[in-house]
Amino acid sequence: MSNVYFIPVAHDPGSEELSRLGRKLLEILVEKENLSLEEEIPLKLHFGERGNFTFLKPETYDGIIDFLEEKKIKSAFTETSVLYGGERFNREKHTALALSHGFKRLPVVIADGAKGEDAVQVPVDLKHFKSVSIAAGLAKFEQILVLSHFKGHMLAGFGGAIKQLSMGFGSKGGKMAMHLGVKPRIMGLFCKKCGLCQKRCQVQAISNTNGKFKIDHSKCIGCGACFSICPRHAVSIFSIGGFWNALFKGKFFREKLVEYACGSAKGKKHIYISFAVNITRGCDCEPHPMPRCIKDIGVFASTDPVAIDQACWDAAAKAGKKFRGADQLQYAEKCGLGSTKYTLIEC
Ligand code: SF4
Ligand code: SF4
Repeated sequence: MSNVYFIPVAHDPGSEELSRLGRKLLEILVEKENLSLEEEIPLKLHFGERGNFTFLKPETYDGIIDFLEEKKIKSAFTETSVLYGGERFNREKHTALALSHGFKRLPVVIADGAKGEDAVQVPVDLKHFKSVSIAAGLAKFEQILVLSHFKGHMLAGFGGAIKQLSMGFGSKGGKMAMHLGVKPRIMGLFCKKCGLCQKRCQVQAISNTNGKFKIDHSKCIGCGACFSICPRHAVSIFSIGGFWNALFKGKFFREKLVEYACGSAKGKKHIYISFAVNITRGCDCEPHPMPRCIKDIGVFASTDPVAIDQACWDAAAKAGKKFRGADQLQYAEKCGLGSTKYTLIEC
């Protein structure tokens, strides 16, 4: 059983209020859980894709940064590059995007090197992976503040602390390993030829030959965006090598996420703060505006990534949105990442 500290918010609280609550929860967590703090603690977060409007704005983290500064703890904004092209593909572009989104108060560090090549292998010895490939610039820290925006995700079902620890900490090779096996196909019978999937695919893997849309698996990186956006459910994640993956709607993908999260958290003293606000069905990687699917809930903090995700998931379900992918929480518990049982302490 783990403790999860929680402060509810009114809808649309604004970054200033979130900043105040983030700091308050961090103070409470440090005091109540008797945490020792390292001399350097980076903030692992998401800078938001260009065109996305619901990612957490940089001011959200001001209170947490104030707290670290007062304690003379060195910090930085840190992230890893993504698999697909675009403005988060490598260090140079990703840094420029972060700065243009206003992440200027701390240095911006892209933790997997200039092109996503800087990685270390962490042994996990689990079902899908014997070892996982983690960004070297994150693996070297004993303690990281893992700051998550709780919301939906096209393949994972939802994204919170486990998603940050897995896809967010993985090197480019690690991200490929997690996506491997997610190779979608377009079912011609259901396709209404709208072309949305082709527009959304960031690696130009979808062709249109005389109205027949087809995915080139030699280019596809398994990001799941076409699966998520198709209005006719004409994209199936069935593949010859991934039949069970398809059958269980991404279950294996989520298990791989969990195994990566185990590698990122192994032997570490990470601190988790999740903001359950601006809750959309899709994630902050999606380069377009998205409506919120439920009202804002609040801010959560814990030392247990499974407990905090479970608490956010439960609160979202109570507010009217049962996100897919809750199976990852049971698997995470089975792998020893944390506990699905928690005590919610409202502060
Ligand atoms: S988004 Fe769906 S319906 Fe539209 S072209 Fe792609 S597969 Fe066909
Ligand atoms: S999963 Fe779909 S959108 Fe993603 S790379 Fe493959 S074809 Fe493109």
